[in-house]
Amino acid sequence: MKEPRIVRTIAEMRRVVAAARSAGESVGLVPTMGAFHDGHLSLMREAARSTDLVVVSLFVNPTQIGANEDLDTYPRDEERDARLAADQGVDVLFAPTASEVYPDGFSATVHLSGITEVLCGAHRGPHHFDGVATVVAKLFNIVTPDVAFFGQKDAQQVLVVRQMARDLNIPVDVRACPTVRESDGLAMSSRNVYLDAAARADAAVIYEALAAAEQAVAAGTRDAATIVDAARTVLNGAGIVPEYLELRDNRDLHLLDRLEGSGEGLLAVAAQIGDARLIDNRVLRAESVPTQAVR
Ligand code: AMP
Repeated sequence: MKEPRIVRTIAEMRRVVAAARSAGESVGLVPTMGAFHDGHLSLMREAARSTDLVVVSLFVNPTQIGANEDLDTYPRDEERDARLAADQGVDVLFAPTASEVYPDGFSATVHLSGITEVLCGAHRGPHHFDGVATVVAKLFNIVTPDVAFFGQKDAQQVLVVRQMARDLNIPVDVRACPTVRESDGLAMSSRNVYLDAAARADAAVIYEALAAAEQAVAAGTRDAATIVDAARTVLNGAGIVPEYLELRDNRDLHLLDRLEGSGEGLLAVAAQIGDARLIDNRVLRAESVPTQAVR
């Protein structure tokens, strides 16, 4: 496979996109922070199937990572990432420096209210989704993708980005792709490298807890507290106290009392396990409960 073209500047990125557009090509964007795993690669393959010019951005965005989080230790390996991207049919790796993205004097923030104030927004603080919305708005303006591909693992991020694009009239189709998991169900994450052997074994319990909640729904439970308790019992049984574990509406993230009708519930969880803060979720439906196979 051909190595992707590595682009460092916004001006060059715009030129590459303009050339593709004048050749009548569609443009797909996969925003990432690098340290690729199969979850990232699945988004790239989906982009290669759906669009002509596939751009993967690789930028460890300092504004979405808190002062007491892991900006300095976040795993980085651009050469490996470029090789992996080549195998998925990626055309461009857009890997700008922090000063290219945030030059001296940069002062804009894209802030959404409401859906950013719960779950990870409540626990990591408002900087997190401000950072996400601002950098993704910039990427959308620079790359002007027809379709942007995000992972369902970060379900709240998908909803925030979709609303941001809608509110700011950015003409992009924000597509959510299924969570890719290890064989025991753990959602793949760049931060899984922080898990030592004991923590790695504990981490699979998150998947089991979500599965227990889904089984409760399949058995007819509709009361949100009872559904959440089914998951909490599994976590607590393994000595895990989640940072949050909540059943919310899968569009605007309001808290649900019950799972009803054709609506979708998002059962979302975050937990500190060993040195890693892990998140995962499962979409629950009252009417038809999908089997979410490990993949
Ligand atoms: P990150 O590099 O962690 O910012 O993630 C870049 C993109 O990959 C985001 O849209 C994530 O939601 C997505 N992603 C991360 N982990 C997974 C996974 N296990 N399955 C599918 N997509 C994922």
